[in-house]
Amino acid sequence: MSVGAEEALAVRSEMAVYGVQVDAPVRRSKGAGPSDDGHLVIDGANATLPIVAESPYQVKDGTVYRNGLGLGLSVEPVHRPRFYDLTTADGIPYRQIALLHGKDVLATTVVQTCIRYDESTRCRFCSIEESLRAGATIAAKTPAQLAEVAEAAVRLDGVTQMVMTTGTTTGRDRGAKNLVRSVKAVLAAVPGLPIQVQIEPPGDLSVLTELRHAGATSIGIHIESLDDTVRRRWMPGKSTVPLREYEAAWDEAVRVFGRNRVSTYLLIGMGEDPDELVAGAGRLIERGVYPFVVPLRPMLGTLARADGVTAPDPAVVRDVTSRVAALLAAADMRGADQGAGCAACGACSLLSAAGS
Ligand code: SF4
Repeated sequence: MSVGAEEALAVRSEMAVYGVQVDAPVRRSKGAGPSDDGHLVIDGANATLPIVAESPYQVKDGTVYRNGLGLGLSVEPVHRPRFYDLTTADGIPYRQIALLHGKDVLATTVVQTCIRYDESTRCRFCSIEESLRAGATIAAKTPAQLAEVAEAAVRLDGVTQMVMTTGTTTGRDRGAKNLVRSVKAVLAAVPGLPIQVQIEPPGDLSVLTELRHAGATSIGIHIESLDDTVRRRWMPGKSTVPLREYEAAWDEAVRVFGRNRVSTYLLIGMGEDPDELVAGAGRLIERGVYPFVVPLRPMLGTLARADGVTAPDPAVVRDVTSRVAALLAAADMRGADQGAGCAACGACSLLSAAGS
């Protein structure tokens, strides 16, 4: 059985929420951000999906089955990359410095601690310090370490782009200046590698120009929700940065990096009104900012998971995603045109499955 475009998006929405039964050698569990998944390639595109033993969706022989019926989607688990077998001269495994996301994205959390990680202030969907506690990563990656791992990942595993995020630091720049040094070091080792940096709005917006001059291709300034009530409930620390600071940072980033070289996450599943979410996405698109809409699947180690929060209704995921995809298409904004970063990778969202 093969499914049409509408049905395919409905299936993909259910797979994003209910997960799949699959043996995926490349997984992400615990860390910065909103999902906890296995990395797959579906019909040629990156996809991160929860691995769930009881899911009605099963990956077998390179395709997806629902309750035993083949759906005509081709699926390949991402292979374990060769750079995971290497260690630095001082004995740190490369995979504690950066991870493979999807089939071709190198991702790192340059500073794995966050000033907002106190239980009363941390984002309820985030587990940035849990992977550190579990010994899966190191607290701070030096520019030299990042350069060494990036060079190997490009040479050995065909990595085509890199994402650098950071926990929020105490400095006024909230961690952005450290990313300037990291981008420079990686590009000295791998000239031309597209890199996306991800930061909170920095106090001094001139660092956005420094990041661009260092060679970053694109930038993510992630607000996760445009609704202040949702922000206060889900991000008690981060919501102290007002929306107007985000707007100023997005506008300056668009001026410096260009239209559709700036993105933000919008999470589906924190209780926001779907119509308001779509309308907010439309306003971001008008500013030249790509709204990367992603269903929230609470990860192990998050406050949301501890509270028993579950993923959103797949019908809502499909509806919001298809409406935002239509707005992006009307504005001629494609994720791939970001050049680097989450919107270019696309794995954690269904926007690419919806045609964006
Ligand atoms: S969308 Fe972003 S977080 Fe998700 S797999 Fe791709 S690079 Fe990683």
